[in-house]
Amino acid sequence: MTPFHFPDPPHGFRWQPLGPAEPLEALVSIRFPTLHGFTCRVRTRQADAPSLGVRDSLDADLDLLGRAAEVQAVHTLRQVHGNDVQVLRTAARPDTPPVGDALVTSVPRTAVAIKAADCVPVLLADPASGAVAGAHAGWRGTRVRVVEAAARALAAESGAPPSRLRAVIGPAIRACCFEVGPEVVSAFREKGHDVDRFALRPRAAGRPHLDLVLANRLQLLAAGLPEDGIEDTTVCTRCQPAFHSYRREGPGVGRNWSVVVAGRQ
Ligand SMILES: [Zn+2]
Repeated sequence: MTPFHFPDPPHGFRWQPLGPAEPLEALVSIRFPTLHGFTCRVRTRQADAPSLGVRDSLDADLDLLGRAAEVQAVHTLRQVHGNDVQVLRTAARPDTPPVGDALVTSVPRTAVAIKAADCVPVLLADPASGAVAGAHAGWRGTRVRVVEAAARALAAESGAPPSRLRAVIGPAIRACCFEVGPEVVSAFREKGHDVDRFALRPRAAGRPHLDLVLANRLQLLAAGLPEDGIEDTTVCTRCQPAFHSYRREGPGVGRNWSVVVAGRQ
């Protein structure tokens, strides 16, 4: 078995251990103000390292993420492609994950973990208070503006002006690969989106491609984040086999983790 190939990090990012306690490589933004990372399908470059994000490993993954980030608790959601934002004010993990697609916390050394395999994960932070949020936005969640709701909820919870918030967009399916039916474009238009800005039609007879990342960037700007407060891994999960991709692998696919930890670094 050959060693796993980690793709070159995009500009402004690097692969590094999430923390010193566990060998767990994550794609990390150099500028983002709190501890965070995006995992791929393996933990490390070692050929015999167990994979990450596969079905049946999710609870074990959360334990691993918690040890790696040295946090009190790793909070997750039962993600349902909606726009509900949960706000956590205690470190204690509930017996069952709350239902929603965005999670805000200001409890220091508490992590938010979002799972996705093509859907757009967005991590947010207020550098001054250390409050953070994670959001999960496939096309349905993007349509109902879950990322905009997450940014507004984080501003409300932390007391930060939105212009102070920072965001980083994780590995997700990109416009190159996200072909959709015309009914999806119509569904965005029905919700008042300026969909012509992010629906691309590469050939006269071709089906539209959606740029979900751009759609979510527009939501972050609408919530008041500055353009230079938004970073993007630029990774397409379907193009890059290091990451799990629903479109490439189909049902039973694993999940990539996006993790962010509250508390200033
Ligand atoms: Zn692609």
